[in-house]
Amino acid sequence: MDDQLVTALRDALGPSVTTDPVALAEARKDKSGYESDSSPLAIVEAQSVEDVRLTMEFAFENRIPVVVRGAGTGLAGGAIGGAGEIVLSTLRMNRVLSLNPDDQTAVVEPGLLNGEFNDSLRMHGLWYPPDPASRAISTIGGNIATNAGGLLCAKYGVTRESVLALTVVLADGRTLNLGRGTVKGVTGLDLVSLFVGSEGTLGVIVAATLRLRNLPPGPTVTIQVEFDRVDAAARASMDLSRSGLQPASMELMDEVSIRLISRYLKSDSDIRSGARLIVQFDEGDGQSDAARAVEILEAGARKVEVSADAASGEDILAFRRAFHPAMAATGRVLIEDVAVPRSKLGQMFGEIARIGKKYGLEIPTVAHAADGNLHPNFMIEGEAIPDSVWEAAGELFRSALDLGGTLTGEHGVGLLKRRWLSEELGDDQVSLQREIKQVFDPRGILNPGKVF
Ligand SMILES: Cc1cc2nc3c(=O)[nH]c(=O)nc-3n(C[C@H](O)[C@H](O)[C@H](O)COP(=O)(O)OP(=O)(O)OC[C@H]3O[C@@H](n4cnc5c(N)ncnc54)[C@H](O)[C@@H]3O)c2cc1C
Repeated sequence: MDDQLVTALRDALGPSVTTDPVALAEARKDKSGYESDSSPLAIVEAQSVEDVRLTMEFAFENRIPVVVRGAGTGLAGGAIGGAGEIVLSTLRMNRVLSLNPDDQTAVVEPGLLNGEFNDSLRMHGLWYPPDPASRAISTIGGNIATNAGGLLCAKYGVTRESVLALTVVLADGRTLNLGRGTVKGVTGLDLVSLFVGSEGTLGVIVAATLRLRNLPPGPTVTIQVEFDRVDAAARASMDLSRSGLQPASMELMDEVSIRLISRYLKSDSDIRSGARLIVQFDEGDGQSDAARAVEILEAGARKVEVSADAASGEDILAFRRAFHPAMAATGRVLIEDVAVPRSKLGQMFGEIARIGKKYGLEIPTVAHAADGNLHPNFMIEGEAIPDSVWEAAGELFRSALDLGGTLTGEHGVGLLKRRWLSEELGDDQVSLQREIKQVFDPRGILNPGKVF
């Protein structure tokens, strides 16, 4: 039966269909550490909207589940394909369709890598702000489908703020244009926002109209502050946020992260530090903003360094950017992603310490401090995630919810956080969201089992 379906899919789509075992094995995983039990039926490597339309029509008619996949860098298991499923890859749809410097917009295909897009904009003096740490390896479509965040959100917003319009192919193969190329526009319900963060459950994003900005004129000023304790760093970050100064990024690292990154980079960084805050200003009068910021930050600090040249500033931030590779070098890691109101950041760090102690775990944690988004990491020995780690993660999520926060600030729900969905949304809202999904996907073929 499976063979017949694949043959029929090939008849419809030709060489865009692959059953190469290596590619199928790759499509069983993303970067969450989760892997499906068996390989998907086939992968469609779509090169055009027409390929996507034909795939969805075929899947709709034959009631075959479809998992849309960008670069597979997701951390929630959302792009993982399994038995009986078609994986629809958008990686080959990677063109910039138009660039409009006067309107500061561009229309792009979903498989374009965020980093490549930004490289192509630089010569025009333009920039696309959403800045996940995975920008070099993740796609614009994946970023939109997860509403990706990153280092610059407090000042420049999450992906949603940069998406004006989308073209989507629905489960039955129909194409819809959502939103518009204007900054303003309130005709009808805001379906663009519904699709941003929908994790492949409502339709396939095949083009996006994005808002651009002028490249910040600089100069960049970077401040690195060491603290004895993480709660002092959290308090300092909040004082800075409340001051009205607008740093582009404000990254907080706890003691364990500093130690692990230093070991990974073989750096002689100050590993006696209890926490480190890295604050970067990217425009305006960076120097005087930085001077005011230093006054605020040095109150509870043990050491402050200021760098006004871009290269050494980038070196300072490189330490933070090495967090993911440093974690990966320790073995298997479960990367978590809670967010709390920023005034509760110190309390959330306290909860992480309490939970670590209770379960006998070290939980290295970094935070995008200005938006209260924390990434506690569980380091795992062996292949399977032990029940005790899931229990600790569950307790962590509940602590974030109790503080008025959320299960996931930017990585999404996917497979990994489904079981906690009702705890945040409540049963009535989960039912309503399921009904909304059904309107778009009446046969339940789009990413079934993910999110809901
Ligand atoms: C080292 C590292 C650092 C990271 N840093 C960050 C960070 O700072 N901030 C952050 O937010 N995330 C981060 N991530 C997570 C990840 O990179 C993002 O979630 C990213 O947006 C996923 O993009 P992707 O192209 O890899 O999508 P995939 O992983 O392929 O897919 C992710 C989800 O989007 C859906 N999807 C993909 N393309 C489409 C489409 N065209 N139409 C509809 N649905 C689609 C998939 O079905 C899936 O549910 C990081 C990951 C790694 C490995």
